[in-house]
Amino acid sequence: MKNQKRTKGTICVQGGWQPKTGEPRVLPIYQSTTFKYETSQQMADLFDLKAAGYFYTRLQNPTNDNVAAKICELEGGVAAMLTSSGQAANYYAVFNICSAGDHFVASSTLYGGTYNLFAVTMKKMGIEVTFVDPDASEDEIARAFRPNTRLLFGESVANPALTVLDIEKFARIAHSHGVPLIVDNTFPTPINCNPFDWGADIVTHSTTKYMDGHATAVGGAIVDSGNFDWAAHADNFPGLTTPDDSYHGLVYTTAFGQGAYITKATVQLMRDLGSIQAPMNAFLLNIGLETLHLRMQRHCSNAQAVAEFLASRPEVAWVSYPGLAGDKYHALAQKYMPTGTCGVLTFGLKGGRERSVEFMDSLRFISIVTHVADARSCVLHPASHTHRQLSDRQLVEAGVPADLIRFSVGIEDIEDILNDLQQALEKQ
Ligand SMILES: *Cc1c(COP(=O)(O)O)cnc(C)c1O
Repeated sequence: MKNQKRTKGTICVQGGWQPKTGEPRVLPIYQSTTFKYETSQQMADLFDLKAAGYFYTRLQNPTNDNVAAKICELEGGVAAMLTSSGQAANYYAVFNICSAGDHFVASSTLYGGTYNLFAVTMKKMGIEVTFVDPDASEDEIARAFRPNTRLLFGESVANPALTVLDIEKFARIAHSHGVPLIVDNTFPTPINCNPFDWGADIVTHSTTKYMDGHATAVGGAIVDSGNFDWAAHADNFPGLTTPDDSYHGLVYTTAFGQGAYITKATVQLMRDLGSIQAPMNAFLLNIGLETLHLRMQRHCSNAQAVAEFLASRPEVAWVSYPGLAGDKYHALAQKYMPTGTCGVLTFGLKGGRERSVEFMDSLRFISIVTHVADARSCVLHPASHTHRQLSDRQLVEAGVPADLIRFSVGIEDIEDILNDLQQALEKQ
């Protein structure tokens, strides 16, 4: 979409759907699997990718594309697509340029689902990953690269480790090896961080989190900056730079230029694997996006107040939040996301695992759920829930000590959040 540069709040409200005279003001839900044409030739041209247009919702749907266009503009990219989940987004983003026999490098601090996808499931497909400490030196990270390495991957703010990625460092390492940097930007959202400004080439999202923001619909998105020159590293990316037999020998980089990566992911991966987002979910996501800029501000100011409150309490052993001046990632957060990071923080209580459970059970409106990043404040105790099969020692090795509580700070009034925390801390 070609608009003059607008600021993010305006894009959140006005981006994507641009109705013409007499059309609905609100993005309609195109609740249709299929689309009508006048002639057989028109349809044939679509199947040959000679003309752009909709024919079957498994590949593309106008509701989804309008929401993808809004996310694309928020990230400053050239092309974007929605997927059925954040998992599907990360899978497609990698699989679009990696096949059996290829290898990629990823930060070790990742969302658990992404870790499993990369380390276990994609391994079964013949794609190997090496995990690196994101804080390691450029030389150390570069040592993980092999001749068949196809990309570097990291999370701008990792869930739940809350490490902040040094995006410029990662981009330098990727580009010096002739491969792109893919950044999962779910936690800060494009409101707080634009990885493309720092050299990232592809951005992914679990739109299930802040973008939807109300815990109503699972979804994902992939955005391409258009900056990576696939043809200049043609040997690394034959899927993009050599003929695709399933489209009569079409070459994506030649036919689509900066749109090559997203076009391939749509007409090949979405066609064959079918992880499309339901248009109804895209509609809900779009309503969430309309207030993303307001909600992120509130999530961040509330989380900052909670982090400072917890850090001041004698019952609290430690607090991790990049917004805290003493946090290990404070300087990186200031550089890459000066308007704030996210609403998620982690902390531990003196008294360890048992005290953590008592504390959580004493909370009143802050609820115990397996989710983060929606309007309602919620907590999770990995040692009792997501990681309950691990021993205390294994928990430490996994980076989730037994006392760790993950707190997703919502957008309720801060006085009420702090009061709820205080009464639970003081309950014996
Ligand atoms: C939740 C999450 C995912 C997975 O997204 P789903 O929408 O649950 O499939 C991927 N990355 C990050 C950083 C996440 O927080």
